[in-house]
Order: sequence, then structure tokens, then C-alpha cells
Amino acid sequence: MVNPMNPGRIYLSPPHMSGEEVELVCETFASNWIAPLGPNVDAFEQEFAARVGARHAAALSSGTAALHLALRWLNLQPGDEVICSTLTFSASVNPVLYERATPVFVDSDVCSWNMDPAVLAEAIEAGIQRGKKPKAVILVHLYGQSADIDPIAATCRRHEIPLVEDAAEALGTEYYGSGGQGAGDREPETGDRRRARRGIAPGSLGLCGVHSFNGNKIITTSGGGMLVSDDLKLIEKARFWATQARDAAPHYQHSEVGFNYRLSNVLAAIGRGQLRVLDQRVEARRRNFEYYQKALGDLPGLVFMPEARYGRCTRWLTCLTIDPKIAGLDREKVRLALAEENIESRPVWKPMHLQPLFKDCRYHGGEVASRVFADGLCLPSGSNLSAADLDRVAGAVRRVYSDR
Ligand SMILES: *Cc1c(COP(=O)(O)O)cnc(C)c1O
Repeated sequence: MVNPMNPGRIYLSPPHMSGEEVELVCETFASNWIAPLGPNVDAFEQEFAARVGARHAAALSSGTAALHLALRWLNLQPGDEVICSTLTFSASVNPVLYERATPVFVDSDVCSWNMDPAVLAEAIEAGIQRGKKPKAVILVHLYGQSADIDPIAATCRRHEIPLVEDAAEALGTEYYGSGGQGAGDREPETGDRRRARRGIAPGSLGLCGVHSFNGNKIITTSGGGMLVSDDLKLIEKARFWATQARDAAPHYQHSEVGFNYRLSNVLAAIGRGQLRVLDQRVEARRRNFEYYQKALGDLPGLVFMPEARYGRCTRWLTCLTIDPKIAGLDREKVRLALAEENIESRPVWKPMHLQPLFKDCRYHGGEVASRVFADGLCLPSGSNLSAADLDRVAGAVRRVYSDR
């Protein structure tokens, strides 16, 4: 029984196990495959690749490791430039620094909060003018929403620049294509009809895609990642580097730098169980969003992250902005009031071009990402939130408004 004077903490995005995971983990223990390889790793790779529509997948210790190996494949040289979305988590960009390359940041568009295709094209042209053609583009799909991949991929193809997709926050997301039917044009669909019409999974259109199973993602293995690609050579090389780059010899022989980046067979068992309930997790997170939209949509100055017409967002996190001029209060006030009530919420990611770490990097664009950061808040969004939890969060937000 929850003590109403001291209600439990509501987390931003906690893990949500289905029960199947523990059975798979028990089988793993019984077989004594407690290793960074084994049958669950192989099966998880196959099942995951099938789910996102990629030919091949390598299960790794984190999404960051997956991105690092993707960049390694591109053989970046010190000082090479890599274009990155500015509005993201630092893990999207840190591997650029691991490889001693230089990030160049691109602003978001207003309809998806993801990389603006027009600004990307400008940034590439400007790089070419300076004699520095970018060596790669890292495209992030933020908060469960696909970026507009078609025009971005077309620009990359035209300039022959490899496109790496960071889909760490976008597993279960669908992309219909910019020219395609927008979600806004249709009635929401459920069940088998939806499954039959599934769009493309972000992360499977570029050269390769990165996924994460960190504890706060839509499905989790407590920690883990996946690199997916249609290029078998890329994936085989990633597996090779991820297991200490051991040459084919009975003794331990090495011709290249290796890493210890493979996913444990135990964690892969958790991942297989989680993947089976991905659709349910997506629907639960979208229901959270719909609840918040009904409960809070009338509050002045409060606007939810838009859902771009070309895709179907998972609403991994329910994000919103609060315009202080209209609302008469700012998002920090709301965040701190929620914290007082033992409710975790978080500002939208601080753009990379505003980070001390990247203060000397080039930036293309305007104020879209910085405004979203200034006013943006992520509400508790776990797929295991109860109706009472949702009421508590919405009630707390409404109270801040009525007390202002
Ligand atoms: C979580 C995340 C990553 C990194 O994934 P890890 O598995 O935590 O290393 C990369 N990019 C984005 C956008 C993320 O949200």
C-alpha cells in the first residue's frame, strides 16, 4: 500500500521486464553459456536484424561502442570532419572524438526536432568550399521520432558521404518517407492491420545504424547495443574489432587494435525477451503521450513535441516546451516542482554546440535546438507507468500552473 504522504518515486524511463526475460536467462544459466558470445547473442542478432529490416547485426556492449565501430569502419583521419545533429545526447558525438576527428553541428527542424535537411545540405556545401568535405554524417533520431531520412540520404548520396544513423532512441519508430502518407492523414491503426503496414525502421536506411539497450531505452538489457547494416563485411569487421581483433591463428596474434565490445550471452537473453514485447512497449508509451496531451494540452504556452507527418513516433519520452512569456512560468519551475513531489523529469538535451566540450566546433543553423532546450521538458514516460502515476504527474504540473 502506497503511503499517500510519501508516494513512491516516479522515474523518467525505468526498465520494464515482461517475465519472459528471466526464463531465457535461467535457460542460459542452465546451459552455462555465461560468456560474451553464445547462442543467445547469435539469435538476438538475427531476431533484431529481422525486426528492423537490416540484413546483418552485431550485438555489442553499448550503443556508444556500436557507433565507435561504425566510425572506425570509415577510417577517419585526425582532423577529418563529421557532421552531427546538435540536439542529442553526447554519446552520439563522443566516438567522433575517440577517432580524433572533428564534429560539425547542424540545427534541428521545427517539425521533428531532428536534423534539418536543408541546413545539412548547406553545411556540406560550406565544408566543400573550405576544402573540407565531411567524411560522414551522423543522423540522430531523437525521442522516438524519425528524422526525415529521404532528403538527408539523397544529399549524402549526391556527395558520396556515408550516412550513419543513431537510432538509439528510435527502436520501434516508423518512417514512411517524405513523399509518403503522413500519419496525420490517417486514422490511428492498431493490431494486425498496423503490423502489416509497418514503415521503415530508422537505422536501416543509411550505411549502418546504431541501437541501444541502456536501462532507460524503450527495451533494455541493462546495457547493450546493436550495430545493423546490409553490408556483411562491415558487420564482420565490427565483430572482429569487438573481440580484441584476434587474427585467424591458434595462438593470440594481432595486426590491429582491438576492443572488448561484445554483448554478454546473458544480456542477449534479456534482449530476446524484450524484443518480443517491443510493440506493446511502443503502444504503452504512445498511450502515456495521449494521456498527457488530454490532461495538459489546454495549459497556456505548453506545446508537445510535434509528430512529423512522415513517420510514427514511439513517444519514447513525452517531451514538451513551455513558453514562459505565454505561460508565466518556465520549465525549470515545473521540473523543480515535480522533483519536490518525487517525480523525475528532465530538460530536453542541451545542444552539442552549446557544450563546453564542443565550444570550438563549427555550427550551422539558427535557434531551433537552443530554443527547444531552453523551454523543453521530458515527462515520466515509462511503459510501466500506472494510471495513478500519470494522474500524479499531470496533477503536479497543473498545480504549478494554478499556483503561479
Ligand atoms: C542512449 C543513447 C546513445 C548511447 O547508447 P548507450 O547504449 O548508452 O551507449 C547514443 N545516442 C543517443 C541519442 C542515445 O540516446
